[in-house]
Amino acid sequence: MKFNFSSYLDFMRPSEIRELAKYATSKDIISFGGGMPNPATFPKDRLKEIMVDVLDRDGDAALQYGNTAGLNSLREELVGFLKRTEGIDCAPEDIIITSGSQQALYAIGKLLCNPGDGVITEDPTYVGAISAFNANAIRMHGVPMDGQGVVVDVLEEKVRSLVSKGKAPRFIYLIPNFQNPTGRTLTEKRRQEVIRIASEYGIPVVEDNPYGELRYSGERVRSIRSLDGSVIYLGTFSKVMTPGLRLGYIVAPREVTEKVNLLKQALDLATNSFSQYVATEYIRRGIIYEQIRFNVELYRKRRDAMVRALREEMGDMADFSVPDGGMFIWVTLNNSVDTSRMLIDAIKAGVTYVSGQAFAPNGGHEHSMRLNFTFPSEEKIYEGVRRLRSVILSRAQE
Ligand code: PMP
Repeated sequence: MKFNFSSYLDFMRPSEIRELAKYATSKDIISFGGGMPNPATFPKDRLKEIMVDVLDRDGDAALQYGNTAGLNSLREELVGFLKRTEGIDCAPEDIIITSGSQQALYAIGKLLCNPGDGVITEDPTYVGAISAFNANAIRMHGVPMDGQGVVVDVLEEKVRSLVSKGKAPRFIYLIPNFQNPTGRTLTEKRRQEVIRIASEYGIPVVEDNPYGELRYSGERVRSIRSLDGSVIYLGTFSKVMTPGLRLGYIVAPREVTEKVNLLKQALDLATNSFSQYVATEYIRRGIIYEQIRFNVELYRKRRDAMVRALREEMGDMADFSVPDGGMFIWVTLNNSVDTSRMLIDAIKAGVTYVSGQAFAPNGGHEHSMRLNFTFPSEEKIYEGVRRLRSVILSRAQE
């Protein structure tokens, strides 16, 4: 049988991260590669209690198909959570529950763009967003970042130039807190600027905030959605509960959530009912707030360990910025070593990372890499950075 695949496949690329996941589980390899929460943060005992209670009390409904928009009680709990954490004012009807925020990215791309349309992203940006947009044949126009997040002057210039060519971007996609992959946070002043640009040119903003609650230092910066109700906000339970239950959500103007609802009827009918019942209790019982405190304490130590290791071992060969939260440090080598080509040597030396190119919407970032500090232990972080140093040195000598 000869299968004739659609031309959408021309845009899709296998993710280096998925490939690397194979090695992450091998005992001798120290993985800085995945974006995985540490399993020590999974609240297994509390989840077990909740799961038993859910099955006892609401088993019939929790094991049944649910509403496409999501469980009402979960959307009600999220209203309180979003107000308390991000200062977001919304109603349950403004929320639609998704199968992780990854599904939200795919849905928003599909609903707001025709094939060939363009969107603005940070450069570098989240590899999963690149996959979701590629799968919808969307062009990405990356805007560079500095220590304060995306450079808004360049963003405005890019928007202006695209609009003048009749190719207005369909939305601006940003990860303002502890961005994946750079770890950088967009300043409040720049968030205000983004809102001004968006409203001046009539371009929607998509704010993706999976890491916002994982802050280890510095002051919280208000979410863009809390400053402007027209923003499409994406949230997830992956970093404050578990990624395995696959729960995310969109907060957006009603006309957007209605369209997502329509698309979800084609994608999966509804998000996992059982997960939604569990998450409802997880918020209602206040466990989510305890868990966030626990994760922050654990991850702060890991971040500090990685920063120290990088300063000691790689201070003479790389630039990196210290993230105030999240899961990643972005490292750019001073020499001309290609991190993608170096990866195989790194794996042989027992350490993995994701090379910069995976996060490049328009190419480049050959000398950068993303290091995850939440998965390995502090000891492994030191050892992994030492291994990286020697791999870089031996590559540089070739
Ligand atoms: N957006 C960003 C920026 C992410 O880093 C991730 C996961 N690492 C996601 C979205 C997807 O998260 P999930 O589907 O697990 O909710």
